[in-house]
This record gives sequence, C-alpha cells and structure tokens, in this order.
Amino acid sequence: MATIFSKIVNGEIPSYKIAEDENYYAFLDINPLAQGHTLVIPKKEVNYIFDVEDDLLAGMMVFAKKIAKAIDKVCDCKRVGVAVLGLEVPHAHIHLIPINNLHDIDFSQPKLKLSSSELESMAEKIKAAL
Ligand code: 5GP
Repeated sequence: MATIFSKIVNGEIPSYKIAEDENYYAFLDINPLAQGHTLVIPKKEVNYIFDVEDDLLAGMMVFAKKIAKAIDKVCDCKRVGVAVLGLEVPHAHIHLIPINNLHDIDFSQPKLKLSSSELESMAEKIKAAL
C-alpha cells in the first residue's frame, strides 16, 4: 500500500508544496514545530532513510540544501536545523526546521496549530525565495 507521502507526491492527498523535481518532493509539515517546518522526501518509496541508495540519498541532501536556503531567507532563525526520525511515516524524509535554540527542534514539544491560509502563505514565501 502506498505511503501517505506517496499519495501526496501523486496528488491524491493535498500538500503545501515547496518544490519538486524528478526524484524529490518538498512540502510543509502539516503539524509543524515552527513556521516553515518542511519535509523533503525521495519520490521513490523507501521506508528507512539509510536504505535509500547512495546516489539518491546524496542528491536528497543537495535538494534539501536549496530548500533550506530559501527557508533561511524567509524565517527569522539562526539556522535551519535538520532532523531525521521516521517514527511516524514509513517513507524516508528529512525535516528542515528553522531554529534559534535547542528547544525549537524538540519533537516532544506541542506542535503549532496553523490555519490553511498561514500554511499557504508560508509555502508561497519559501517558493518565492528559492
Ligand atoms: P516522523 O515519521 O519523522 O516521526 O514524523 C512524520 C512527520 O510527518 C510529522 O512531523 C508529521 O506532522 C508529518 N505528517 C504526517 N502526516 C502528514 C501529512 O499528511 N501531511 C503533511 N504535510 N505532513 C504529515
């Protein structure tokens, strides 16, 4: 069965898309830790990130770099933090999270409740900064 992220890539489930190319897709996390929290995935469905083949895995970080630079421009942050968990969705993904301190990337914290218009507006801003 297709993962929820494959359904997003295929347009069966909506997402706040930031960017895509032949191999990768980036979109806002629906339950973000911070404004601009973005997920980068390979379109190819692989459960565990360290099972992604070498070239695809390396390219995923290069793709994420472009997105992170755009997030950096738009969000008020010291850095864009990078995290890989994969505890919830069995489709490899990298979290890109604007951070100013350790607390900002603490996944045990409550998630932000953002409206669809807030998410839409953030996606537009990041896209425009690419
Ligand atoms: P992880 O697998 O890395 O532990 O967590 C999965 C992440 O995907 C979570 O941060 C969660 O908010 C996000 N997520 C889960 N389902 C969806 C979805 O349908 N759409 C989006 N945009 N994000 C999702």
